[in-house]
Amino acid sequence: MTDRPQSEPFDFLIVGAGFAGAVLAERFARDAGARVLIVDRRPHIGGNAYDCHDDAGVLIHPYGPHIFHTNSKDVLDYLSQFTAWRPYQHRVLASVDGQLLPLPINLDTVNRLYGLNLTSNELDSYFASVAEDVGAVRTSEDVVVGKVGRDLYNKFFRGYTRKQWGLDPSELDASVTARVPTRTNRDDRYFTDTYQMMPLHGYTRMFQRMLDHPNIKVMLNTDYREIQDLVPWRHMIYTGPVDAYFDYCYGRLPYRSLEFVHETHDTPQFQAVGTVNHPNDYAFTRVSEFKHITGQQHSKTSVVYEFPTDSGDPYYPVPRPENAELYSQYEALTRDRRNVTFVGRLATYRYYNMDQVVAQALATYRRMRAVPA
Ligand code: FAD
Ligand code: UDP
Repeated sequence: MTDRPQSEPFDFLIVGAGFAGAVLAERFARDAGARVLIVDRRPHIGGNAYDCHDDAGVLIHPYGPHIFHTNSKDVLDYLSQFTAWRPYQHRVLASVDGQLLPLPINLDTVNRLYGLNLTSNELDSYFASVAEDVGAVRTSEDVVVGKVGRDLYNKFFRGYTRKQWGLDPSELDASVTARVPTRTNRDDRYFTDTYQMMPLHGYTRMFQRMLDHPNIKVMLNTDYREIQDLVPWRHMIYTGPVDAYFDYCYGRLPYRSLEFVHETHDTPQFQAVGTVNHPNDYAFTRVSEFKHITGQQHSKTSVVYEFPTDSGDPYYPVPRPENAELYSQYEALTRDRRNVTFVGRLATYRYYNMDQVVAQALATYRRMRAVPA
């Protein structure tokens, strides 16, 4: 459709150039031959997965460490069209009682913390002896104390969660702390997905290749509201916060934010692993060192500290019943917008990882192609 005059409407105005927007831009342009205008109010593509080199030349993730992991071969195959990969298994240590201990909690975590020498079977029995009877698991407290008891919960989860979300784990859905399930073996990888890797030349390079198509026009530093009435388009794909789209008509949906403090050190290595968590000390939750994650060789190293906050860019939907209730009111409004499709972590208010957003965007594409507007 590149031969159509440029004064014709864009087939799609896509709001947001993160994973959700970029996948749909790529699919509609390359696979369906549609003309796409993708806008982002930030000065770059990639959304929160954007990476770049800092002043020292170290490849960093300005919006916090992004590690790719998935069980979906479809998602991996799709992204592999735009990047080669480097294998990477993320490891996390938690600073607890003066020690750096493996997280998720595993056999070594418990043995080192308590000075024990348990086997995996013995650890099973130990957990059974300290686990509390919580009945039906509803909250992020239930999920942990029901499995490993209150002491491990207090040391590893309670403080971190209160810092990260500004809420007690008892006020959050079980799904939040269930992201970090306990093990009785010695596996110290943070994720256990089948595929764990990093884009060889970074996320931004991958996004550039996704959006590099004659049918795709990218407009940065632009809020869609500035141009939606100036540029003709047929259908909008919106990946920003859903409450903002509807002018907060039902009130604000809580999104948790972070302040990122980046530092460069004149030494090749700062810490032993990609991320060190601080559940009980400091105002920040974790410190991540990018070179572990990206594999870059450099005489200096850069790290990022994450300070949770309520104000600032929306990063995390906050999974709890009253928010799900409020979101369902906005979701009902989205169903009436026949010429707008809502996709992604902010627009569908789901605590999704990157691969889940890619899967959601690919499914959305298939659905939209099956039902012509
Ligand atoms: P986003 O990336 O947020 O993109 C939405 C875009 O819309 C933004 O660029 C925004 O500027 C733009 N936008 C919003 N409103 C407007 C407007 N009015 N006009 C124009 N543009 C607008 N996932 C993993 O799989 N592994 C990880 O290790 C991982 N680590 C993470 C660490 C942190 C600190 C955070 C916050 C998230 C992490 N994630 C991770 C999750 C990952 O960032 C998301 O799943 C993914 O980036 C979501 O993509 P998206 O396109 O839905 O949203
Ligand atoms: N969590 C915790 N202690 C930790 C790590 C995680 O309590 O040391 C809890 C916390 O509530 C956190 C959630 O588990 O928000 C999910 O952790 P994950 O590392 O998946 O968070 P993300 O990378 O999405 O910020």
